[in-house]
Amino acid sequence: SASAVDAVARALARADTVRRLEVRANADTPEDAARARRFGAQGIGLCRTEHMFLGERRKLVEEMILAGTAGARDRALAALLPLQREDFSGILEAMDGLPVTIRLLDPPLHEFLPDRTELAVRIAAAEARGDLPAAHDVELLSAVNRMHEENPMLGLRGVRLGLVVPGLVAMQVRAIGEAVAERTRAGGSPRAEIMVPLVGDVRELRIVREEVERVLGEVSAASGVPVSCPVGTMIELPRAALTADRIAAEAEFFSFGTNDLTQTTWGFSRDDVEAEFFSAYLDKGVFPVSPFETLDRDGVGRLVRMAVAEGRATRPDLKIGVCGEHGGDPDSVHFFHAAGLDYVSCSPFRVPVARLEAGRAALEETDVSDSR
Ligand code: PEP
Ligand code: MG
Repeated sequence: SASAVDAVARALARADTVRRLEVRANADTPEDAARARRFGAQGIGLCRTEHMFLGERRKLVEEMILAGTAGARDRALAALLPLQREDFSGILEAMDGLPVTIRLLDPPLHEFLPDRTELAVRIAAAEARGDLPAAHDVELLSAVNRMHEENPMLGLRGVRLGLVVPGLVAMQVRAIGEAVAERTRAGGSPRAEIMVPLVGDVRELRIVREEVERVLGEVSAASGVPVSCPVGTMIELPRAALTADRIAAEAEFFSFGTNDLTQTTWGFSRDDVEAEFFSAYLDKGVFPVSPFETLDRDGVGRLVRMAVAEGRATRPDLKIGVCGEHGGDPDSVHFFHAAGLDYVSCSPFRVPVARLEAGRAALEETDVSDSR
């Protein structure tokens, strides 16, 4: 009813005046970005770029990762550049004036490479017909076999891929920089931030950061629009949390990736929470809730607090947020408030709840009976 809607609007308005946590959304299309804005998101805390490399662009991605020659790889990257520029331009337009944290490509490799069983079947079928299998298939299978990983979530992902595939980081950064220049020339106020995934060591971040500065310098010179973007990192590996003081020297912001941080801290695969054993194990009651749903304060939470303290010891103005699923979980929002984060970022539909809980957390702060 209208009065219920009014009551919710009043509660949200009240929460917005008292909360200390900023609330952003995770979105990677202009449509999701616009929806997030309608729900009151104050920016995009995580724009994943993985989906931008699937569908029709998959072939180019295969070329880019598996390319037999530098020429083939560079052609694939050159074809991806204008597509990525469009991707980013649309999102920056939808979020004009608000921060948009764009994360560099972070694929688990198996989702991007051709299936080797399918390839093997195709080759075998050709041979069974007495035909020569396509040379391309044979080469592809051999390349995919060489890259095969038993644990793709622990493999060539995130910054590792960016450092292994020459030109990949530069292509994405150039696309971001050119989109910013284009939007700026059109009279907009684009605020792109560049986020590096799966960093475990400050040196990884330093290399990418230098590349970002180099490429944005080129974009600025070529476009005549001075473009600079803050560079930050996901904190989603225990080693990143444990070395947060060093990492902060190269990062303007941290964003906790609590999905991966939970996975790597507990040693539970985030892809297996639907497996029979996981719920059976939870049912044992050894620990009461899934750490993938409600932030585990004793373990993962301790790493979060440690990284906040050490990061800010190095850089007092370090901006810190969270963009894992926990960013929209009510109980976890209270934890992030208490841990001193600057923002939470969650799916657009959870933004109103996060706003309310952030407001409640601020109001309850002085209540000593609140053991959180
Ligand atoms: C995370 O790991 O928490 C995260 C936000 O990144 P992704 O879910 O894309 O791995
Ligand atoms: Mg992650």
